Amino acid sequence: MYGKIKENLQKEIQKIREDNLYKEERIITSKQGVEISLNDGRRVLNFCANNYLGLAGSEQLIKIAKKGIEKYGYGLSSVRFICGTMDIHKKLEDKISEFLQKEDTILYAACFDANGGVFEPLLNENDALISDRLNHASIIDGTRLCKAQRFVYEHSNMEQLEEVLKNTQKLRYRLIATDGVFSMDGDIAKLDKIVELAEKYDALVMVDDSHATGFIGKTGRGTIEYMNVIDRIDIVTSTLGKALGGAMGGFISGRKEIIEILRQRSRPYLFSNSLSPVIVYTAYEIFNMLSETTSLRDKLEENTKYFRKRMSESGFDIKPGIHPIVPIMFSKFENDAQLSQIFAKELLNEGIYVIGFFYPVVPKGTSRIRVQISAAHEKKHLDKAIDAFVKVGKKYKVI
Ligand SMILES: *Cc1c(COP(=O)(O)O)cnc(C)c1O
Repeated sequence: MYGKIKENLQKEIQKIREDNLYKEERIITSKQGVEISLNDGRRVLNFCANNYLGLAGSEQLIKIAKKGIEKYGYGLSSVRFICGTMDIHKKLEDKISEFLQKEDTILYAACFDANGGVFEPLLNENDALISDRLNHASIIDGTRLCKAQRFVYEHSNMEQLEEVLKNTQKLRYRLIATDGVFSMDGDIAKLDKIVELAEKYDALVMVDDSHATGFIGKTGRGTIEYMNVIDRIDIVTSTLGKALGGAMGGFISGRKEIIEILRQRSRPYLFSNSLSPVIVYTAYEIFNMLSETTSLRDKLEENTKYFRKRMSESGFDIKPGIHPIVPIMFSKFENDAQLSQIFAKELLNEGIYVIGFFYPVVPKGTSRIRVQISAAHEKKHLDKAIDAFVKVGKKYKVI
């Protein structure tokens, strides 16, 4: 019976290739980090990981993880409510609550699961789920799994958000869901305005701080700290898979009753395996470290400022902001999509690994290279990347 579907899948794959949307995976043969090896033998500098604090391959974490695996073993082979909850799971949940100044926290296998499981237990068809147009795919999937009425406002458009809030006042509950940081531009949600509107119209606010927890804000509590709204946000979801070691795992922190009901009803929590003890043990130590010192996020902030400043001074068109996601824009050029791809390839030849994004990943005419800065980058790495950008930029008359 495979014949027919096989043919159709082949056609679909062909179409993806023709549309230039086929995703090739580059194969790394070393630990994740600043300097990585590719399977063609090249050593390159990595400027496209979510490894914001540089913890992913760090020797210090390897030591901690070894201790964790020795003491608690490799896996749990159970969901949380059968026999998959260890003391360290509870300790990590408490630690995250303390770090984010929330009443309680629940762990998930990934933030994708957290977002997939957060709405459905809380909202039904009598409620409104109000979402920023550019929210992460997992928030979109979460809303699809929930019976609430769906409303979308244009990206960061607060007038539209207010319109929706006005028009839905008859509904039982309203929940506004937003990314804290939007990953293509590195821009931050207008959380000050969002909480103001939420309070005015009696709505809840959920923030997905995956691209912020651990490093945005003076002490790394995320956009909720940066925008000074920690105590006015009801639900925070985030990932352990980016700045916080980069292994795997997600969580939701927030109001006590909300977390309690999620433990009873949230399907990805109830019906998926417990987070591996080695991750939980290590993540606990990461939160400890981040609670004691801001040195990593401070270094990341400095690196980001330096890179943004020097790239601007070199004549590149970069999206302004404070986030270590630095989009180098090709909007001024007719052939922006092609340019973003050639540019990334040339940079790889110079030993700099970055990715070029073009339509439909980003809107037409806004192709870019998205650079991601890490605390593990040293000045010499940043300089090498900037020099390479300048060299390739001159060659293609981008600057
Ligand atoms: C990366 C990301 C996720 C997914 O996190 P995982 O833990 O990798 O599943 C969810 N939301 C946002 C905003 C993200 O950037």
